[in-house]
Amino acid sequence: MTEDYSEGIIKGSRRALAKAMSLVESSRESDFYQSQQLLLKMLPHTGNSLRIGITGSPGVGKSTLIEEFGLHLIEQGKRVAVLAVDPSSRRSGGSILGDKVRMPRLAREQNAFIRPSPSGGALGGVARKTRECMLLCEAAGFDVIIVETVGVGQSETEVSSMVDLFMVLLLPNAGDEIQGIKRGIMEVADLVVITKSDGEYVLKAEEARSRFKSALRLMLAKPNGWRPKVLTTSAVEAKGINDLWTACREFYENVERRSFLKDMRRGQSKEWLHQILNHELLRTFYHNENVLKKLPEFEKLVFEQEMLPASAAAELLKVFKTSF
Ligand code: GDP
Repeated sequence: MTEDYSEGIIKGSRRALAKAMSLVESSRESDFYQSQQLLLKMLPHTGNSLRIGITGSPGVGKSTLIEEFGLHLIEQGKRVAVLAVDPSSRRSGGSILGDKVRMPRLAREQNAFIRPSPSGGALGGVARKTRECMLLCEAAGFDVIIVETVGVGQSETEVSSMVDLFMVLLLPNAGDEIQGIKRGIMEVADLVVITKSDGEYVLKAEEARSRFKSALRLMLAKPNGWRPKVLTTSAVEAKGINDLWTACREFYENVERRSFLKDMRRGQSKEWLHQILNHELLRTFYHNENVLKKLPEFEKLVFEQEMLPASAAAELLKVFKTSF
């Protein structure tokens, strides 16, 4: 069965790609092994796409901008895949419709492929599945893969470790709260994009841009030598979209020139090994029957200050280790 998918994917069949993605996203153990076999077969066909991560809080204008950006890329002759990561939300099932409705014009394009966030649960969680779906899109010949992540929170680091270029979207008034913008986010950002720079917001957006520019100037260049850029866009007026693409191309020229891309991606794979291990070890621990039996007791002891947290943890780990 995997044979059929792999041939279909390489030939560019959207149906085969969608089916393979469902296999990757499945929480069934048998599907896991089958999907890993398929991915292994696909591996030689991966690595040729630009992997771009886009993050921002709800309402910042992610879907509107991704749609404009995606359409622009298609005009340039590119094939574009959009994958969403949303580990915090429960939007599964209905989300396929949701995401297509969010980007209706892009969804109609032959050269676009939009896939919503998978629901969690399987080995390595949602981010692992997204990463593997990304590899499938690469094998299917998509030139640009956009990984969209919702919110400003835990998913950024996971997403920034699966993409080459990380874009952070901020509202025009974000400049006022520059202190409040999580430092961690700024550290992973390669491009900071001030959205909705139109009408009454143009001035505010420009102000925010210069504030971020000076804030970023104080930060060290990234290990890949890239200095983050700040841009303003208006998706509704289709302004700044070409500049955004130019900045992406500059980023790639820069990392390619330093032969950094391959190493960066290899390092990411290694990091992923550890993330999956961390995730799975935690899951195994908290699903262990003996641990579950003992946990409330130790929680109570710690809560009542009758036991130190470190001692309780040591006892629980003992319970865990002796249960095999
Ligand atoms: P998301 O939640 O980050 O995906 O945000 P959306 O793309 O759904 O946009 C949220 C709201 O902002 C919608 O009402 C959009 O119409 C509006 N919006 C998005 N982009 C722009 C823009 O460039 N300019 C203006 N004025 N409004 C925008």
